Amino acid sequence: MSATGRLPRWLKRQIPKGNHVNHTASLLDELNLVTVCDSAKCPNRMECYSQQTATFMILGDTCTRPCGFCAVKRGKPEVLEIDEPDRLAEAALRLGLKHVVITSVTRDDLSDGGAEHFAQCIQAVREKCDATVEVLTPDFLNNPDALMKVVAAKPEVFNHNTETVPRLYRRVRGPKSDYKWTLEMLRLIKEADPNIKTKSGLMLGLGETHEELFDVLADLRSIGCDFLTLGQYLQPSTDRYLPVVRYVPPEEFNALGAAAKHLGFKKVASGPFVRSSYHARDMAETV
Ligand code: SF4
Ligand code: SF4
Repeated sequence: MSATGRLPRWLKRQIPKGNHVNHTASLLDELNLVTVCDSAKCPNRMECYSQQTATFMILGDTCTRPCGFCAVKRGKPEVLEIDEPDRLAEAALRLGLKHVVITSVTRDDLSDGGAEHFAQCIQAVREKCDATVEVLTPDFLNNPDALMKVVAAKPEVFNHNTETVPRLYRRVRGPKSDYKWTLEMLRLIKEADPNIKTKSGLMLGLGETHEELFDVLADLRSIGCDFLTLGQYLQPSTDRYLPVVRYVPPEEFNALGAAAKHLGFKKVASGPFVRSSYHARDMAETV
């Protein structure tokens, strides 16, 4: 089953214009940095770039996993660039960022999944900028020791996305995905350092039921997850990605957001264009 035809009216939006869009894009180019905004074809990138916001994607631009929803390039990854943490911190400084969001491709070829490199990026931002740091990490090959390397670097916010409900995990996130480990990661982070805010997000419109969604939200609350994002899944292009099963109307996103708040999440962003890092600074600032 899929939602065919034209996009519903609420998914059509004005493209912001302005010098900041070009400034952000050329600075990222100059410092040879990758953003998930571009790599994943995020629908918000003009808006975020116009506000001098971007989510850095470290560990290269090539992913070792085959998620059915994601536009990031797959294949054999590049050699790790050891100066990437310094370049990232330089970009954050020159963009004047107050909240730096760092994500990555999944690197199953590295023994720690790139955890040490994440920690070095956090450290580099700490040394150069007066900014809070949010990481959105892969699963680090289900390795608690690797996870703890990133926790030890003390990001203010640690995000690991649930993405979808357990029944759809393999189809959406691929054969190596593991719902139980997703929850365990978030639990271990909180247990190791209760000062770190934990965060997770789901895409809606992939065929999940409301009951399945609320089971996931209850699971996330049971392990103390602080922040939640809910957004509409949009097919990056029609040829090879999972189809959209349903476009969730804005009113329904509002109702789901209110229900999630009621479950105890400290902050919830719920709307068709919400992505993990959309207005991330606002969310991090509120607690
Ligand atoms: Fe980038 Fe996040 Fe904004 Fe999308 S929502 S453009 S990924 S900062
Ligand atoms: Fe995209 Fe992350 Fe999946 Fe890689 S692991 S394909 S970057 S969502």
